[in-house]
Amino acid sequence: MLLSQTETSKSAAELAFVQVALPVPLDRLFEYSCSAKNLHAFQNGCRVVVPFGKKSLVGVVVSSADKSDYDLAKIKPLTSLIDETPVFSTSMIKLANWLADFYIYPVGEVYASMLPVLLRKVSSTKALAKKVINEDTKADTNEELKTISAELPLLAQLCAHQVSEEDIKKLHKSKRQFALFQALKEQPLALSQAKADYSPTIVKGLIDKCHAYIEETPPELGLWPTQAVLAEKKRANPEQAIAIASINQATEFTAFLLEGVTGSGKTEVYLQVIEEVLLQGKQVLILVPEIGLTPQTLRRFEQRFGNIVAVWHSALTDLERLTVWQQAKYNQIGIVIGTRSAVFLPLAKPGMIIVDEEHDESFKQQDTLRYHARDVAAYRAKQANISLVLGSATPSLESLHNALSHKFRHLSLKKRAGSASLPTQHLLDLTGVPVEAGLAPSMLVRIEQQLSQGNQVLVYVNRRGYAPALICKQCGHVESCKDCDNPYTVHLSSHNLQCHRCGQYQDYVYKCRTCHSSNITTQGIGTEQIQDMLAKRFANYSCVRIDSDSTRGKRKLNELLSAIGQNKHQLLVGTQILSKGHHFPNVTLAIILNVDAFLFSSDFRAPEKLAQLVTQFSGRAGRANKPGEVWLQSYQVGHPLLQDLVNNGYEQFSRLLLQERNRANLPPLAWQIALRVEHSDTALIMLFMQYANQLLAQFSQLSYVGPFPAGVEKKQTRYRFITVVQSSSRQYLNRAMTQAKQALGEHKLAARMRWSIDVMPSDFS
Ligand code: ADP
Ligand code: ZN
Ligand code: ZN
Repeated sequence: MLLSQTETSKSAAELAFVQVALPVPLDRLFEYSCSAKNLHAFQNGCRVVVPFGKKSLVGVVVSSADKSDYDLAKIKPLTSLIDETPVFSTSMIKLANWLADFYIYPVGEVYASMLPVLLRKVSSTKALAKKVINEDTKADTNEELKTISAELPLLAQLCAHQVSEEDIKKLHKSKRQFALFQALKEQPLALSQAKADYSPTIVKGLIDKCHAYIEETPPELGLWPTQAVLAEKKRANPEQAIAIASINQATEFTAFLLEGVTGSGKTEVYLQVIEEVLLQGKQVLILVPEIGLTPQTLRRFEQRFGNIVAVWHSALTDLERLTVWQQAKYNQIGIVIGTRSAVFLPLAKPGMIIVDEEHDESFKQQDTLRYHARDVAAYRAKQANISLVLGSATPSLESLHNALSHKFRHLSLKKRAGSASLPTQHLLDLTGVPVEAGLAPSMLVRIEQQLSQGNQVLVYVNRRGYAPALICKQCGHVESCKDCDNPYTVHLSSHNLQCHRCGQYQDYVYKCRTCHSSNITTQGIGTEQIQDMLAKRFANYSCVRIDSDSTRGKRKLNELLSAIGQNKHQLLVGTQILSKGHHFPNVTLAIILNVDAFLFSSDFRAPEKLAQLVTQFSGRAGRANKPGEVWLQSYQVGHPLLQDLVNNGYEQFSRLLLQERNRANLPPLAWQIALRVEHSDTALIMLFMQYANQLLAQFSQLSYVGPFPAGVEKKQTRYRFITVVQSSSRQYLNRAMTQAKQALGEHKLAARMRWSIDVMPSDFS
């Protein structure tokens, strides 16, 4: 809606006022005026365009009133209204406000980050709106409201035209176009789906030939229940049956922790409880870790329920995201499986939220709005009065604490489903043992044995690249990135030196920069080095590397995983990526190279992370009928933590850790918020953070430690420091930090520092 210039001169009685959330880094809403007779159109949750300084911004109406407490002369009129119906429902508005309070984050930026990118900007909004405006020639009686854009681009469908036999014959030349055309003749496809399954070029080709067209009318809402397929399910074993029955019985908000060892059939439990929810015509949101969303996972859900599943992840285009957002909001799909930010998707009929591998670190966002998707999911489930199911073989101590203190219902699956048994775990003492690319001779013997029996072997190391450092044997100089004070990692495949903090790289060096000696050597072991050694040693087998270098590109990881599934590779070397949820039935031996690094970390979560890694990684072995074996190489085999973990397993180990946290008064038995500050001048950081400490000192019921250097002490020329604030009361801590933040923002250095508040920080790097 375009408001006339005369708007400003209207008298107060003719004006109404709306509070708008704007994407600016300020903890407040902004007031604008509109004509009183149009106030009804400015519903809460609708987007508006407003003037802000010299710019135009898209904001969200949060409330409205016919009076204002401000000086009327200073209140600017709104520029236009974008939506006829709100993009934020009442409950999503509540969620946004809660997020802003809980994470102590500017409210307008929270609203913006919950929206798909295409709905955030004036430019894209206009582009979307224009089309609808032009087509909408039906005159509105109210002139001022006429140019309201209809809500959003509608769900675009790709449909087949009627085409002559002759043209179809011609189409045979292009196999992919022909395949798409055949598919469309069966039934129209969502445009985004067609683009993803075939390719944007194939789609365009077919449209250009006039064999297909795009239809933008929305399909009927809520149709998916009639399209859902309920394929035959597995017969649940007794443990699964108890879990399924417990979840099905819940009629109001209940949080469940499903603690089930790897391969115990947690996914099967999800599938069966989802079925019940779908039968009630309600939607299910499933959150999975960043790299857990493989075609394998998706296929399991589609095979069971048919084509009512949408996926949401970082590789989608903006338009694809918008489509999924709409499908969820308008009840066009029954299930959304997505990574972290899917937790903000609007759901027309929420029925259940599942968080798979709930311990996974990728659920915590580590910049801007530093939310934890699991905690947001809990809020949403409670708000919608539905069930929340958190599943993991290695539950976070946070969830375990909630389960053991009966805040969550605790369900457990202690045995592997089907005939598979859990792998055995062993420690290998490396002291005095000569290693080859980090591997002990006895491990090489075991690898050989397993390979010769037609099995696959996994080797884990926590570093990618060839070696984590290049040093001069003459003078000890370490080739480092100046911007980060960080040793360069040596990369063989790209033949260069890379800084893993900032991504800078430089040519490989053959002579020491300081003393010019050519006596330089690599130090430490990375994935490339192991792959190199194993490939040479076991030349008859194929050795593949799986780390963020080798899996760059949209489909690379999936291609690698499917090649492994087809037994095209026998030796698998990789980083963390390898430990995540994959099902490799042929793996019988898993070796973990560098467990000692975790034992001497200053992060109190290191033992928890080690135990999760070891257990998840072990979980990849022996998943089918063949028994699996896991070996942890260490120079510290007597370390009580390692002994505990290997001998007693995660279940017992995690409970001991929890007791230790209790004794040490650490999370989850206390609440923490971190203040993070970055600047190139440490003296300025100290000034600023000392002032923060003074502010914090006024609050009696909290304690703080810091400033101390972050795990990553320097990055891109900026030093990084942290102060951790702690209290036994979450509300108290939140109120104190909210006040401290406000006061800190008024400090003269505040605008020069990069600083942020991290509520319930999950690591201190
Ligand atoms: P998790 O999610 O706990 O890792 P999955 O659900 O992937 O476990 O199950 C592991 C394997 O066991 C899968 O191949 C699955 O098909 C199988 N499975 C699960 N439940 C059953 C069951 N009740 N009967 C037979 N096989 C099952
Ligand atoms: Zn030197
Ligand atoms: Zn760097």
